[in-house]
Amino acid sequence: MALETLTTTNEQDRIVKSKVPITPTLEKLLNPNLHKKEPIFTSPLKKPKEGEKVYDLSPEQIKAIQELRGAVVDLHPGMGGVVPSKLIQMIEDGIPVTSLDFMMTKGCNFECTWCYAGSSPFATEFLPFNKLESITQEAADIGVSLFILTGGEPLTYKDPALGKVNHRGEHFFKVVEMIKNTYERQGKEAKILTFDDVALINERIAEQFAHYKIGLCTKGDTLHPELQDYKVNQVGAFKKMEKGNENLIKVGYGKNPDLRNVVNSVFDHTTFDGMPDLHMLVKERGFDHSIVPIHFCGNAGDEDQEAGIHSPHVKVLYDLLSKVDEKYFDEHWEPWSAFTYNKTCNRNLSGLHIRANGDVTSCSESPGRDETDRYTFGNIFTDENFSLEELAFSNRLANYRTEFAEGSGTYVCAPDICDLNANDLCRGGCAVRSAYSGINYETGLIEEGTDVHNYSTHREDPLCPAWTKLALTQGILKEGLLSAIHERLLEKSEKLDIKDFPNPY
Ligand code: SF4
Ligand code: SF4
Repeated sequence: MALETLTTTNEQDRIVKSKVPITPTLEKLLNPNLHKKEPIFTSPLKKPKEGEKVYDLSPEQIKAIQELRGAVVDLHPGMGGVVPSKLIQMIEDGIPVTSLDFMMTKGCNFECTWCYAGSSPFATEFLPFNKLESITQEAADIGVSLFILTGGEPLTYKDPALGKVNHRGEHFFKVVEMIKNTYERQGKEAKILTFDDVALINERIAEQFAHYKIGLCTKGDTLHPELQDYKVNQVGAFKKMEKGNENLIKVGYGKNPDLRNVVNSVFDHTTFDGMPDLHMLVKERGFDHSIVPIHFCGNAGDEDQEAGIHSPHVKVLYDLLSKVDEKYFDEHWEPWSAFTYNKTCNRNLSGLHIRANGDVTSCSESPGRDETDRYTFGNIFTDENFSLEELAFSNRLANYRTEFAEGSGTYVCAPDICDLNANDLCRGGCAVRSAYSGINYETGLIEEGTDVHNYSTHREDPLCPAWTKLALTQGILKEGLLSAIHERLLEKSEKLDIKDFPNPY
């Protein structure tokens, strides 16, 4: 196919770099005409009146969210699976940091088109084993109970100081053993969650994951092999990922309650149509499903976002998935927040992230030093005598967390407007989305953010279904929009029957 037939500049940029041949099928998937950048609102959105709530939840509804959180402890990014009251209690009990992320390596076997971390097979930064060891010791001393190992692809982790890598994942599992041993020596237990793109999981690695009872957050964006290959820029990637999933299932992931896997799906205009069928497969495998609506971040370009998904798409998709879960999987949830199952991000409540360049930050994607110093609390390489313990108990971190806690929005994300917010069940959704994206109040469309400090000072997740709810209340949502999105999803699905899911809008 000729490059010039693709519609957006951004797609053309990628194709120059793409290693995946653009067949007519792939071309169609890349240009689904999901949204034509036409306004979603018929007149400008107004702030809610005093006392008016976007989400007015009953005590039973609040309890239902809390119970669902408690059900799958510490899966989902940012300890989002944990009910926040538990974390607040831990802080009050003198544990200032409950979870710690190690971005072990920037190296990766894939080159995802939307990678926020700039990872690739050519990236070389990594956290040396001896640094991980000393920080883990401090973490055990101050009561950290969850480690989240990320990359890049953690299984590609290697530190020359540990000698030659004799088999895939060898150095990664040395880190796992080190964490486990450090805690055992103190009579404590550490939980480990690993982000993984699943393509490198052979039988041996699956068995090791099961042996250490490692919680997994694996990649899975689409069931279209060509599209998945294109997204990670590698021919044959989908096949490898499916093999990895098979290996996980063989050792009990999805069945054994101790072996949890949450599939993380990036949700953009190209993966939207296939999301219900992907969801069915993920749930049939016994895995949990986390869907991440894409925004202006990393390689996710302007064109992608503007031609892409907006709050109504998130609302309609989640409304449908909740009905799918009810019908086929006996799971009950009412969608409100921007995360599936109303999970949310707790990272800024009690977590810290250490990047492969040594920066200690508020989260994996928080604006970095090149933009602001506000979200970087130190560097384990360049700060002489860096101490996790000192940072954990510092005024700097305490003040930052207060600033974050006070950083409500004005339209939807505030305690007097949203009952999830008022009950600590959502603190403005994903802070990174507020930093890099925002809603245009005139059109309802997502646009690039103007102030990265919105991350902590003014959080209003632009992809929360609450915006659609507010627009509906004010009678300004484009007529027929929600129905059209619902019908489209069912028409594109090969697994769902339109008769089972009548149009609720
Ligand atoms: S993102 Fe905002 S409006 Fe949506 S559930 Fe969270 S706090 Fe409420
Ligand atoms: S703020 Fe967003 S990007 Fe950062 S940890 Fe939370 S969900 Fe992830």
